[in-house]
Amino acid sequence: MKCEKCGATITNESDAYSYGGQTLCEDCYLDIVAAPKTCDPWAVHSAKNLSQDKPLLTPLQEKIMSIIKERGPVTAEDICQTLGITESEFRTNFAPLRHMELARACKVGNKVCYTLFDR
Ligand SMILES: [Zn+2]
Repeated sequence: MKCEKCGATITNESDAYSYGGQTLCEDCYLDIVAAPKTCDPWAVHSAKNLSQDKPLLTPLQEKIMSIIKERGPVTAEDICQTLGITESEFRTNFAPLRHMELARACKVGNKVCYTLFDR
């Protein structure tokens, strides 16, 4: 079995994820669920350029980062509850953090959690 996005061989059937009719490896699946649907490469490009200096984060993004730093890996639910925001607000604000490679999704047990990018 192969990941239809990156072509990685999926050896274990339990590591295969199906999303939108495609079979994906865990990395690709987590990337998709953590990223907005309108993810385009140029947004990633410009976000990365910005981050070479000092990443420009909104106050809400700063708060998300500090929760992830203190308690990560942490679920979206937990972050939303702490900040009193909806899950879609969280996703919108998390996407740039993922693009700037500050934070990423990971899997803990069978839950999707969020952690520091280099952790
Ligand atoms: Zn993949």
